[in-house]
Amino acid sequence: MFLKPDEWGFPANTRPWVIAGPCGAESEEQVLETALGLKEQGVHALRAGIWKPRTRPGSFEGMGEQALVWVKKASIASGLPVTVEVASPKHVEQALKAGIDFLWLGARTTVNPFLVQEIADSLKGVDIPVMIKNPVNPDLELWIGAIERFQRTGNNKIAAIHRGFSSYENQTYRNKPNWELPIELRRRLPGITLFCDPSHICGNTFMLEYVAQFALDLQYDGLMIESHRNPKEALSDAAQQLTPGELGVLLSSLQVRKPSIDDPFELSRLEDLRDQIDEIDSELLNLMAQRMNVARTIGKYKFLNNLTILQPERWEEIVASRVKSGIDKELTKEFILKLYGLIHEESMFHQTNQMIQEKKDKSTKDSSASK
Ligand code: PEP
Ligand code: MN
Repeated sequence: MFLKPDEWGFPANTRPWVIAGPCGAESEEQVLETALGLKEQGVHALRAGIWKPRTRPGSFEGMGEQALVWVKKASIASGLPVTVEVASPKHVEQALKAGIDFLWLGARTTVNPFLVQEIADSLKGVDIPVMIKNPVNPDLELWIGAIERFQRTGNNKIAAIHRGFSSYENQTYRNKPNWELPIELRRRLPGITLFCDPSHICGNTFMLEYVAQFALDLQYDGLMIESHRNPKEALSDAAQQLTPGELGVLLSSLQVRKPSIDDPFELSRLEDLRDQIDEIDSELLNLMAQRMNVARTIGKYKFLNNLTILQPERWEEIVASRVKSGIDKELTKEFILKLYGLIHEESMFHQTNQMIQEKKDKSTKDSSASK
């Protein structure tokens, strides 16, 4: 059982809950001015990085313990509860001493089970909400594991923050969203509060609205967005931060849509469309089953003719022609590549099984013939 943020001090019946603030606390004035600006824009809580684990040494690693005083003062002056990132039991001790309201674990901490356990243990018996960012790599079990370590200490004020996953090939996002992971996380941990951090997903400001809207349409509970009084001067993540005013514009442009519908007429129209989808899906599955049947026959043929399963030229030709006809049908190239990757894998699986079976049958036949 998870307690929702309205039981941690966030306003009730609100969607999305918004946490905003600078990537890093840089000075007392910077945090204060940003916090006051954010309060004016209707934000519900203040964030600020005090200790910043950075990928490479020499980058701005946060102002450390002294900044706890600044963020606490800004929190009191603005009336916004405040959250900081903790990456060790020592950070926890200092943050608790400073009266920080909520804590969060960063993506570089969630990847490390021993460290997560130490942090969870250091919070045993303390009634403080903890938000857990996804690990840097797209590993759902690691994310769930970190959440469970806190649950096991008896904490039920836990939320997950989706900040995207580092990826080698993708250039569109700073951290690829892989939306299916947070969706699956929520299915596996029903009732967990889910925040989206579009700032670290995008790495820029122009895609923030699109990603934040997408998250709301997936029924996320809240957003964590980076905001700095003067983003150009930010010591970290300058490219993705908004001024409080810009954040206000973004928030007011978001559409908060209903999770369900009760008008019976409108509902019946939706149900008709869903019936169509169900029918098409059933046809798709029948076609897939037929396709795999043919694949098994091909498996038999390849066995008899001693041919390898993978025929690279044939595969090249399939990819090229399916991408072309998919694009003609207004499907995206990425979708066709993923879809055919899966179909091909399944097809090779059926062919291999068929070949194993043929080999077994042949050796049974041979041995009975030799008797
Ligand atoms: C941050 O919130 O500034 C941060 C460092 O995030 P992440 O852990 O998602 O990289
Ligand atoms: Mn940041």
